[in-house]
Amino acid sequence: MTSLTGRVAVITGASRGIGKGIALEFAKRGAKVVVNYHSNAESANAVVDEITANGGSASAFQADVSIEEQANELIKYTTTHYEQIDILVNNAGVTRDNVIMLMKPEDFDTVINTNLRSAWLCSKAAVRSMMRKRYGRIINITSISGIMGQAGQTNYSASKAGIIGFTKSLAREIASRNITVNAVAPGFVLTDLTKDLSEELVNQSKTFIPLARWGEVAEIAYAAAFLASDEAGYITGHVLNVDGGTAM
Ligand code: NAP
Repeated sequence: MTSLTGRVAVITGASRGIGKGIALEFAKRGAKVVVNYHSNAESANAVVDEITANGGSASAFQADVSIEEQANELIKYTTTHYEQIDILVNNAGVTRDNVIMLMKPEDFDTVINTNLRSAWLCSKAAVRSMMRKRYGRIINITSISGIMGQAGQTNYSASKAGIIGFTKSLAREIASRNITVNAVAPGFVLTDLTKDLSEELVNQSKTFIPLARWGEVAEIAYAAAFLASDEAGYITGHVLNVDGGTAM
């Protein structure tokens, strides 16, 4: 198991789902973890409790990361409280699915702001400290919807494709400072985000996933942990699909 001992990691949207899984995995590997959440304080505190009960170190921090001041506060809290930020995982995300004719402009804006703008804001706030230290790992959670497209997700797919372009540009921009920037593209994973998908779509999805099953939260977390590790130091600008082969 790759170690993250001595590293300080911020994970946005870590109160539930994939972000929670990444927080638990990073803590297990020795990182101190800042568990960001938007509105679900109880769940975020439960993640912190689980980490500390297992001998790890974590704290929860509320911030709507789509808002500049709040994204800045999240990073400032981390660099003040832990004196460094080594790893940033831009994971916070939402969906507002609909066919384009019925999708409201505010559903487009919410998804773009929460999924894409937040990653840009948090990264912008974090790179100064990483550059000073000449070390950093930024991991952006995209989606196979950003690679393949998905009917009913014109807003979501655009945000996730945007994440990929953002990842590659930032990777080029800050590589000389020993900061890597990569993306993880999950396929279908059962979380609050996907729990309301129709049984028909769930069953249909398994017919086009080569591994014929949905992914586990932990399987996404293992990929993020690898990209956050020292062993991944020569990988940057990469999009790692963790999707059972769906998008190959
Ligand atoms: P989830 O279970 O719905 O969890 C979403 C998390 O994001 C929660 O912790 C939520 O905080 C947080 N969040 C939402 N808006 C936020 C904001 N404005 N500021 C800060 N935090 C915010 O979703 P998930 O399935 O774990 O998804 C996590 C990421 O993986 C997303 O980027 C998603 O697009 C991506 N992804 C998921 C799948 C999948 O199949 N599940 C597939 C591909 C990609 P609160 O609890 O406080 O509301």
